[in-house]
Amino acid sequence: MKSWKDNIRTVVPYVPGEQPQVDSIIKLNTNENPYGPSERVKSIKLDTDNLRKYPDAKSSLLVDKLAEYHGLKPEQVFVGVGSDDVISMCFLTFFNSDKPVFFPDITYSFYDVWASVYRIPYEQKPLDENFNIVKDDYMQENGGIIFPNPNAPTGILVGTDFIEDIVKANPSSVVIIDEAYIDFGGESVLPLIDKYDNLLVVRTYSKSRSMAGLRIGYAMGNAELIKYLNDVKYSVNSYTMNMPSLILGSAIIDDEEYFRTTLAKIISTRDKFSADLEKLGFTVLPSKSNFVFASHKTVPATEIFEKLKEKNVYVRHFNAPRIDNFLRITIGTDEEMTKVVSLLETICCATN
Ligand code: PMP
Repeated sequence: MKSWKDNIRTVVPYVPGEQPQVDSIIKLNTNENPYGPSERVKSIKLDTDNLRKYPDAKSSLLVDKLAEYHGLKPEQVFVGVGSDDVISMCFLTFFNSDKPVFFPDITYSFYDVWASVYRIPYEQKPLDENFNIVKDDYMQENGGIIFPNPNAPTGILVGTDFIEDIVKANPSSVVIIDEAYIDFGGESVLPLIDKYDNLLVVRTYSKSRSMAGLRIGYAMGNAELIKYLNDVKYSVNSYTMNMPSLILGSAIIDDEEYFRTTLAKIISTRDKFSADLEKLGFTVLPSKSNFVFASHKTVPATEIFEKLKEKNVYVRHFNAPRIDNFLRITIGTDEEMTKVVSLLETICCATN
């Protein structure tokens, strides 16, 4: 007898970082921004009566604002419920070939999950021994390319020339650059979308824009790419963006000064924290994001992870080949990072 279970779309799901619902912890495990949205945005009163209506399916308030901010036409911007939603739609729309989609072996751990759930063939290209993306690996026939810049969880950035070479060499594939962390010191490849019709750049509000809880992400590319994305979106769920997201998400774009100030603070805290970690015997990969990826020379990552957790400090550990002795630590406030350094001093010196 056949069972209904034979017809299930089974998948091994993505495992999100823990979100303990308490305030008394130092939460450095999901790359959130330690600074909230600007005071002006926090003071906006929403007309909740309007929630009885569906939101604008075109999300024009937000799309127009983002287009203006980035110097694009509204037809070049696609918005979604976090960049997870945007990238998931991209996999469905652009990766529709029998050839494998390429992404690094060590990268955002959602990519292989989307490929699996949509039954898209893929090949994971190994990073080199220093955790760098190997350009030549992306010069072979493929069904699409995606990687973050800077990469996650390594935090390592590649230059725009590196990406341009890949985009240029792959005119028959869509190349998606996931710029979730680009604002923390990287150079965006956004200007290249005018030159290459196969390049799509994805951004999120969850990191540099301090709004992970609102769930906003967006993609930018030529109008034809964006049209194909919208066709798929309207075939899955037309009202993706809720009214608070449209209003608050467009309002925060006006607070450029606050944005720049908080970014500068995070970058300076990151660089100091990296130096402090090195003094404690950690190897720290050169990060251009709002986290560092570090491994201690003698104390195992799992031991540090558990000991920090006992002290209510949450960081991220990936039980995966080559990186299981590393910890990914989000950059919090100066005060939080000073506390973490002092805890690490105790943990690493007591064990040595
Ligand atoms: N891309 C990368 C590289 C990420 O690290 C994350 C955060 N988990 C995302 C995309 C998704 O972020 P969000 O859905 O919050 O926009």
